[in-house]
Amino acid sequence: MPKQKLLMIGNGMAGVRTIEEILDRNPDKYDITIIGDEPHPNYNRIMLSNILQNKMTPSEIILNDETWYASNNITLHTDEQAILIDRLTNTVTTTKRNITYDRLILATGSRAFILPIPGADLEGVLGFRTIADTEKMIAASKKYERATVIGGGLLGLEAARGLLDQGMDVTVIHLADWLMETQLDAKAGELLKADLEAQGMKFLMQKATSKILGKSRVTGLAFKDGTQIETDLVVMAIGIKPEIELAQHANLPTGRGIVVDDFMTTADPAIFAVGECAEHNGIAYGLVAPLYEQGKVLADHLCGIETKGYHGSKMFTQLKVSGCDLFSAGDIKENAEIKGVTIFNSIENKYKKNLHARWQASRCRALRRYNRRQPSIQPAQKRRRTHRLHARFTAPQIRRIRKYERRRNAR
Ligand SMILES: Cc1cc2nc3c(=O)[nH]c(=O)nc-3n(C[C@H](O)[C@H](O)[C@H](O)COP(=O)(O)OP(=O)(O)OC[C@H]3O[C@@H](n4cnc5c(N)ncnc54)[C@H](O)[C@@H]3O)c2cc1C
Repeated sequence: MPKQKLLMIGNGMAGVRTIEEILDRNPDKYDITIIGDEPHPNYNRIMLSNILQNKMTPSEIILNDETWYASNNITLHTDEQAILIDRLTNTVTTTKRNITYDRLILATGSRAFILPIPGADLEGVLGFRTIADTEKMIAASKKYERATVIGGGLLGLEAARGLLDQGMDVTVIHLADWLMETQLDAKAGELLKADLEAQGMKFLMQKATSKILGKSRVTGLAFKDGTQIETDLVVMAIGIKPEIELAQHANLPTGRGIVVDDFMTTADPAIFAVGECAEHNGIAYGLVAPLYEQGKVLADHLCGIETKGYHGSKMFTQLKVSGCDLFSAGDIKENAEIKGVTIFNSIENKYKKNLHARWQASRCRALRRYNRRQPSIQPAQKRRRTHRLHARFTAPQIRRIRKYERRRNAR
């Protein structure tokens, strides 16, 4: 029986990971073709920051080189853009050819969001998304002195650190009151800013950029409050925009991303979306861990293996800037139900915050009350009590009760 034709648009991290998962499950199921508009084989986009920070070279971040594609019988078309999907004939048109498919995966990722303000198209205004963007920044640093990064989030700070490493004088412009405001509270944001200032980074906070100045190349920035600064390079790191145009033209439902169900299937049962371009349950994820989970589900589904489907992910982030040991996971906002416990060691400059649901605290109080009522116990009672404990508390809570009792009995 001839193999089914599996075509994937996008040769990036989530897409190729999905193909790896498919090969792991059933290497002979599909005849695979991948179209990618970058001139490289699949590379680790996360490590672009390391290239800018002089820690790695472009060849060191390649994840799957050409021999991997060849040895897995995958046809790869690089430097080639898919421009049209014809769902009636199951054909994708690229800048060079027409390719038919039985199953089509959209893994087109995102592009850097560029502020739609006057001057955004000037030479010297860049996003930070690709090897090409990174190489342009490094080339600019050899000719020019001053760089401005718009956006004090994870990506902006990594770009700013990299431009410092390239010898530039770097200013970060941020709209919010503190850095990384979606991952950090105000105190952590201030500590991070102080650390980065000590490394030589400059900041302009609560600034909204209104215009990029210059005739053919950028010379400065103007802000809504009427102030201006001079600069030779502008890197916009204010967010990403999922690449959904192909899906929109093919009349597939889209929101922020291409809408998929729990099996990463679009409204067309022959077309799937995975990675940053996909929107699941109203969320388009922008970090690789959830995207790899999606890839596993899609691989199971495409290989006919029973799967419970994808049901969303909790996100965590880590800043890749030397000297700043920063990790943030889950929701960071306190409210009536969720309260934070903070520890700040001002000598070692360490700040930690854990958020707890209030019911956990009240449950702990109940646990202490329960303990106070339990003096020494005979074996039969002990068994009954074990049953009662298991009915009322979780395993970690029971371990805490036992520990508490051992300590109390030792006294
Ligand atoms: C500098 C930087 C640092 C990052 N750091 C982290 C980190 O620390 N942790 C983390 O979890 N995530 C990080 N990320 C995000 C992470 O890289 C992305 O979440 C991940 O790459 C998304 O994978 P993807 O396959 O969905 O998209 P991509 O990797 O962007 O791949 C999509 C590919 O499709 C191609 N494409 C798009 N349209 C077409 C078309 N029409 N025809 C052909 N090809 C097309 C694109 O050119 C691209 O090559 C970082 C990103 C950047 C840029």
